[in-house]
Amino acid sequence: MNALDTLKNLSSQMTFEADGEPRCFNAKERDSAFTHRAQLPNGKSILLLKTLLSSACERDCFYCPFRAGRDFRRATFKPDEFAQLFSKMYQRGMAEGTFLSSSIAGGGIRTQDQLLDTAEILRKKYHYRGYLHLKIMPGAEKAQVYRAMQLADRVSVNLEAPNTDRLARLAPHKIFIEELLNPLKWIEEIRQSTPAHYFWNGKYPSTVTQFVAGGADESDLELLSMTDWLHKNVRLKRAYFSAFHPIQDTPFENKPAVHPMREHRLYQASFLLRDYGFDLEDLPFAKDSNLPLDADPKQAWAQMNLIEHPIEINKAEKRDLIKIPGIGLKGADSILNARRLGKLRDLSALKKLGILAERAAPYLLMDGRKPAAQLALFSLSPAI
Ligand code: SF4
Repeated sequence: MNALDTLKNLSSQMTFEADGEPRCFNAKERDSAFTHRAQLPNGKSILLLKTLLSSACERDCFYCPFRAGRDFRRATFKPDEFAQLFSKMYQRGMAEGTFLSSSIAGGGIRTQDQLLDTAEILRKKYHYRGYLHLKIMPGAEKAQVYRAMQLADRVSVNLEAPNTDRLARLAPHKIFIEELLNPLKWIEEIRQSTPAHYFWNGKYPSTVTQFVAGGADESDLELLSMTDWLHKNVRLKRAYFSAFHPIQDTPFENKPAVHPMREHRLYQASFLLRDYGFDLEDLPFAKDSNLPLDADPKQAWAQMNLIEHPIEINKAEKRDLIKIPGIGLKGADSILNARRLGKLRDLSALKKLGILAERAAPYLLMDGRKPAAQLALFSLSPAI
């Protein structure tokens, strides 16, 4: 196999995450492209190549297409081979960044070394200065995590499940605390003990993780409790949720797929926890500890808490404004700026600020009055 065939092979079964929306390459895309659009932590959108260094895995996670013993053609890049190929793709504008992971072959330490060698060759031999996301392998050592942080813009450890018991149902040979959670803690320990200029571009790399939502029959409460803990304790930038879907010829091939809306609700709830000052107990979990699929969690919270106690838009602080459905972080800033020039008296003033005024209306007061009465008029007259 030449390097391009190896890349085709390794990309062929990968699940891609573009802006948090996982998708699989179909056959046409597989032959014509290896990249997808992804948003960087700074908001810039780039063409990202997400691939494995090797698909020859020695482990047997129940959900995974690369598990040992599954019958398909495996492929492996040598570090210099991948670095050279990616460097050419980068120079030709075919890719603007890469997310490099691997199956485990010869143990986590050896596999991590292969990833680190590839990153080092890219940075030092090919002088690549673009975006690099490196996966930390289960079983990697702390010194390897440190080295990854010196080479990458982002590092990730996939927890896959929210705790030890749930992980055992998904991946019998992964050890939750020692192999997965500890590396996330090490990243934060290293950040706290080492100045930023020791790391790539003089900055600490961001950290993310991924869960297989529904793979271990865990609840949303379990997933979001762990996500909340990670935000608060190891400065996790973001948790990705990938709704479980069965792969043929794996032990989970007959397990039903998880509804994609569950993934969406988990993202919404995790952003409320991370950015909007919500606590776990604010989220509208049902009796089974899952979020209802048919309700936006912010709207459900507002229905319970703001209908009787609407928020005065001309007086509220930002932390209260962002609790109103239809008002995001930017919208709240726009309201605060607009208030310096005068009172906001009707929904059209909110709409001009880019706010979803109809959505917000039931939960707010404008100069002491409920704007609900304006709604009928407002919806009849979009030019207002
Ligand atoms: S270790 Fe990774 S690649 Fe290997 S079977 Fe598990 S999830 Fe798949």
